[in-house]
Order: sequence, then C-alpha cells, then structure tokens
Amino acid sequence: MASDSLSLAMQELKGLTVSVVGLGLIGGSLTKCLREQGVVSKTVGYTLDSNHAKLGIELGAVDVAAETIAEAVSGADIIVLAVPVQAFESVLQEVKPFIKPGAVLTDVGSVKGNFVSAVESVFGDVPEFVVPGHPIAGSEKSGVTAANSSLYQNHKVILTPLTHTDERALSLVDAMWSACGANVLQMSVEKHDEVLAATSHLPHLIAFSLVDTLAGNPDNEDIFRYAAGGFRDFTRIAASDPRMWHDIFLANKEAVLNVLDRFSVDLQKLRTAVADDQSQEMLGVFTRARAAREHFSKVLSGQSYVNAMNTNNVIFNAGAGSALSGAIRVAGDKSISHRSIMLGALAEGVTEVEGFLEGEDSLATLQAFRDMGVVIEGPNNGRVKIHGVGLNGLQAPPGPIYLGNSGTGMRLFAGLLAGQSFDTELTGDESLTKRPMERVAKPLREMGAVIETAEGGRPPMLIKGGQALCGMHYDMPMASAQVKSCLLLAGMYAEGDTSVTEPAPTRDHTERMLNGFGYSVERSGATAKLAGGGSMQAGKIDVPADISSAAFFMVAASIAERSDLTLEHVGLNPTRVGVINILRQMGADITVSNEKTVGGEPVGDIRIKSAPLKGIKIPEDQVPLAIDEFPVLFIAAVCAEGETVLSGAEELRVKESDRIQVMADGLAQLGVRTEVKPDGIVIQGAKMHGGTVHSHGDHRIAMAFSVAALRAEGEIVINDCANVATSFPNFVELANRVGMNVKVNGDA
Ligand code: NAP
Repeated sequence: MASDSLSLAMQELKGLTVSVVGLGLIGGSLTKCLREQGVVSKTVGYTLDSNHAKLGIELGAVDVAAETIAEAVSGADIIVLAVPVQAFESVLQEVKPFIKPGAVLTDVGSVKGNFVSAVESVFGDVPEFVVPGHPIAGSEKSGVTAANSSLYQNHKVILTPLTHTDERALSLVDAMWSACGANVLQMSVEKHDEVLAATSHLPHLIAFSLVDTLAGNPDNEDIFRYAAGGFRDFTRIAASDPRMWHDIFLANKEAVLNVLDRFSVDLQKLRTAVADDQSQEMLGVFTRARAAREHFSKVLSGQSYVNAMNTNNVIFNAGAGSALSGAIRVAGDKSISHRSIMLGALAEGVTEVEGFLEGEDSLATLQAFRDMGVVIEGPNNGRVKIHGVGLNGLQAPPGPIYLGNSGTGMRLFAGLLAGQSFDTELTGDESLTKRPMERVAKPLREMGAVIETAEGGRPPMLIKGGQALCGMHYDMPMASAQVKSCLLLAGMYAEGDTSVTEPAPTRDHTERMLNGFGYSVERSGATAKLAGGGSMQAGKIDVPADISSAAFFMVAASIAERSDLTLEHVGLNPTRVGVINILRQMGADITVSNEKTVGGEPVGDIRIKSAPLKGIKIPEDQVPLAIDEFPVLFIAAVCAEGETVLSGAEELRVKESDRIQVMADGLAQLGVRTEVKPDGIVIQGAKMHGGTVHSHGDHRIAMAFSVAALRAEGEIVINDCANVATSFPNFVELANRVGMNVKVNGDA
C-alpha cells in the first residue's frame, strides 16, 4: 500500500469505532492492541456468552461489551468478524441489518473462499465495503482470556480484496493491522486458500493424525514418556482447538484435499524407499528437505548464500609472532569446489568431494542441482557426496532457479541449461540482477539456444528447453573464464565441436576438471575445444588448497626469521602460480614436492623457508597469474631490499576494493612511502612501525596486514575484517597455530 494512503487511513482511524463480533483469542488480541496503541476512538466486543465480553472489559481487551449484535454493529465504523469459520453465514445474516452506511466489514477467518461464499449468499454479491482478511498469528489457546496485545507484532496479515473492493475500506483495514505491528500483504482468495492449505492446514492435519495414531498404540504411555523434544515441537499444533480445525478443513476442503493427495503419493514413495532399501531415494528426500528450509528463507528475503558484505566491525590485532613452522592445509579452492558440484551432478556415478569450500557459487549451485533432482549429501565438514545423474538426467526444476549472488553460477548455468529438454528461469538477489548476462546469451544464441533476458541483457534469464544446439567456434572479445566455461558446457550438448579462443589467458579450471571427469577437452594455443555428446564418470575429488589463501603463508614464512613452513596439497594450476614465480624472483626459498594431479588439477606441497628478499620489477606476464595475491606481495616488497615495481595491474583497482590505493593508504599508516601509479605501484623496502589500518571490507587486505605485523615494530590494528571468515574461514586459527600472532576483537 502506498505510504500516503496508509498514513491518511491511520489519521482517519483515530476517530473510528471498531467492533469485534467474536471476542475470542483473535478478536480480543486485536482490540486489546488497538486500545493500548490508542489508534482508534473506541473498541466494542460481542460474544455469544455476554459474560465473555464483560470479561473482555476486565482484561482491558475492549472498551465496551455489547449485549446484542445490534448494539455491537449499529455504531461501528469497522466491523471485524472473528467467529469460527462455520459460523460466518449465520453471523452475517444477523449483522447485515445493522451495518451503517460508510462502515467497513472485514474478517479474520483462516479460509477466505468460504468467507466470500458466505458474504455472497447473504448479500447476493460481495459489497465494496467488504475486505476479507486473515492474520497469520495465533496460539493453541482460545477465548478472550488468551488475548495478547503483541500477538500480531511482526506477523503477516493477508488481505484478499476483490477487484471492486473500495480503496478506502482496504486502506482502513490495512492501517488497523499495521497499527498492531503486522506486515500486511495482499493476494487473491484462491491463492490464499491454496497456500494456507499447504503451509498451515496440512501440517495441522498430520500432527493431529500422528498423535492420534500413537495414542492408539498399546504402548502409548511409553511412547509419550520417552518422547524427545523433536516430537514435542512437531506435534505442538495437535493441541489446537479441535472444533476450529474441524471447521477449517471443511471450509477449505478442496485445497486441503489437493495438497493431501500430493503428500500421500510422496509418503507412499518414501514408504517404498524404506521397504526396498532405496538409499538414494531416501537421501534425496531428506537432503532436499533440509536444504529447502534454508533455501526458501534466502529466496524469500532475496539474500545471497554467503553474507559477503558483513557490516560488523571485526578488528584484528596483529603482533610480532615468532618463527613460522609446521605443516598446514589452507582452505579449499573456491572455483574448484564450485565446479566439482557442477560436473559431479552431470557425471555418471557418485562423486565424493573433500576439502570443499562453502562459497557463494558452490552453495547456490548445490541448491540449483537439488532443484533439478540431483541428490547431494552435505556439505559436512568439507565433505560432499553427489549422486550424479549423467549428462541427460536433469529434471525440470519446480520453479525459477535462484542463484543468490553468484554471477559465475548464472553464466555457467546458462550454458548448461541451454541444451536441456525443459525450460528454466535463472534469478538471483538484487545485486546479481544488475550484472550483464548478454556476454553469454549472445554466443549461446549463435549456437541455437533460445534465451531471453530482462532489459539491458540482465537477469532473470529465461532459457527455452528442447533446442538443438550446434557446435561453433567463438573468438571471445574479452578474456573471460566464465564465458569460456559457459560455452564449453553448452558444447557438451551440441552437435559437433565447440571451440573458444581467448585473447589473453584465463583460468582453466573447467577444462581441467572436464578432463578429470573423463570428458576430453583439447587445448591448442589459446583455443580450448570439445566435441558434443560425450559423458563423464564420477570420481573422488580432494579439492586442492587455494593458492590465493596459501600466498599469505608463503610471504609470512619468507619474511619471519628462521621460519620453515609446509603448505600441503596446494593447487598449482599454471594460471594461478604467479605468486610462487614472483616470490622466487625476489629470492624466496620455496620448494615444491609431492606433485600429483587431482581431478585434472596439479597439486603439490609447498615448503617455504625464510630468506632475504630483494626488490624486483614484476614481469607483466606474471600479473594475471597473481592478480589476487598482490596485497600480500606488497608486504613482501616492503620487507625486501630495494625497489619493487608493479605495472600492468589496472584490474587491481576494481576488485573488492581499489587494492592499490587501499594498500598504499595502509602502508602509509605504518610509515612506508609508496608511489601509486594508474596501473600499479612502486614500493621501497622499508621498516614498518605499528599503526591502525582499514581493510575496507576487503578480506585479502585484512590478511595481508596480519602478515605485515610479523615485521612491524609495533602492533597493527586492522579494521573491517569480517569478510575474512567468508573466504578463509579458519585463517586466524591457522595463523596462530604456525606462529603468527593475530587476535580477533570487535563487536561481532
Ligand atoms: P475463539 O478464541 O474460540 O473465539 C471465538 C469467538 O467467537 C468467541 O468469542 C465466541 O464467543 C464467538 N462465537 C462463536 N460462535 C459465535 C456465533 N455464532 N455468534 C457470535 N459469536 C460467536 O477462536 P479464535 O481462535 O479467536 O478464532 C476466531 C477466528 O479466527 C476463526 O475464524 C479462526 O479461523 C480465525 N483464526 C484463528 C487463529 C488461531 O490460531 N486461533 C489464527 C488465525 C485466524 P464465546 O466466547 O461466547 O464462545
């Protein structure tokens, strides 16, 4: 409702009388709240037994107890019917003769179709002054003694106006509930009854039935005696008013039967699954259900899967520490975790993933595949088990696929879904809705895909199923691993070969993992090529530790004297190893051992011993291979002898923060002079003193300054460190374990 008309209605409300017919739990709570808030002129209550209305006065629930229905209705500006749903028609008959001109009539019934039918049968049609409503709040108690003035606070009230409902009447009813702290929504009568049948009526039916079944068991005393908290929570609603629920089921018979039939079919399937040891079927139901609760809360509030921009000011206090030693494994690689879900879902057989990092892309993708019928267990302490369905085994999702804030997810899914037999819609949170998708939609259309986007090539993306895709060659106008991956995934569903040439090297995790899953991707120069119609085989993936996370410890062990540290199972993808190459050129003592290939990705153990570093001119060909590692490389440069020069790194200015400027500002606080250039920075080796720096919410900057403290002559206080927990959940614990000194403070 527009805020102007709502505030006008609030004003008007002040002079009005609200009469409730049926001053029980729901009606009494409403008038009690209206009285306490002082938002109406007068409240009047009427009950079948007039003593109950008088009790309402004693309890402060109402101003006036009406003796007759005529007395209650004739002076009322807003009449609220709060009687049991089966009583609507007879009460409307009684109310009708006394409604004064200009009065508004509304109700609180749990079923709206039945209220509207009752109005039609009494009035001949639904008059304009009638506003059907339903507060989604209540309790197992009933009667005016249970009236509670905060019952509606932060609860929803659904109004189901008809097309001809009077605007003023609607505004007044909206204002009345809003004054009680409710969140007022509107929907159609039919939708309301359908939604409530599923979310409220069916659960009540099941609770009543389950408790009745168990109570009829000869061992019932034992069953109830040993009942755990879960049973009590689940069956709490079986303590609700039996007569009221009897009425509700009869009033909403059709919608309840529809959802009950669907549920019965599913329950029967589950019975068969248990009887026949169908583990996958059972796990499918349980894992989907568990994930669905979490997922729907994200969809409804339009959130990301991972809260990337945490607003709490977590502060790190980083001190000198000691020599770094030991062997650790840092957090799993985000991109590889993500792709392991995608390819595992499309492989044949069960893929077991270890070392999985729960990032935004991975979590969104996991849910999307669950929506398309893939059974996925976990994530559980970094373990995920994916029951692959094969390249052509996905099922149509029940609704739009929600990808939270994952731009990578949306672009990769666009390719994958372009070749399915069913239609899909890809949506996301508000920030994803602003990201450009045309860069993938355009080449996909050239392959034969039918894709619609919103204005400006933005999400949502509507992808039409059942299209025959043709392989093609694509020269990417700009280097993008996402576009390349998208087209290769579509290429698996296309006739013939699909090849993509990149103008500059981009990350090749998709190609490597496809090969790891047995789907051949050929690489020749800047071109990656695959043929459509292949298949993938499941396997085990021990996700390599993220080299970007390992980089902090590489620099830390290099600059802290007498250090000797081993980083285990680190991903050594050639498109990512710039940090090792650069540090070695600066004189770092880094050796790699135990090299092997996991899911197509090279991994190895990295041993770093402290060594005197020297400044260098960073080779420009190494810049894209180390783009995420520069914040901590700047710290290495400060600890090196002489000058380090970085150029060709404009991209650093548009990361989570302007990393060049934010690092230069922080270093200045520690007494280090730098020269900032449009595409880089010049850093002189220098001594650092302690000080206070700001990471500007950029996790890599926060961790880089934690490393700097190893050589600073005083404590470094780092503000805005909350996002470290998202990208590298146990950074602080590992840092302290190997000999660094990082304490977490702040008001989180
Ligand atoms: P309640 O506490 O039992 O109150 C019902 C009231 O209606 C009582 O004051 C009763 O009078 C009066 N009444 C019953 N039959 C009547 C008749 N023929 N004429 C006049 N008054 C009559 O029930 P409630 O929980 O407030 O439920 C009222 C309505 O709210 C129902 O339509 C229900 O579907 C809806 N609702 C309930 C909940 C919930 O959780 N309880 C939630 C949302 C909506 P006496 O006191 O004299 O018996």
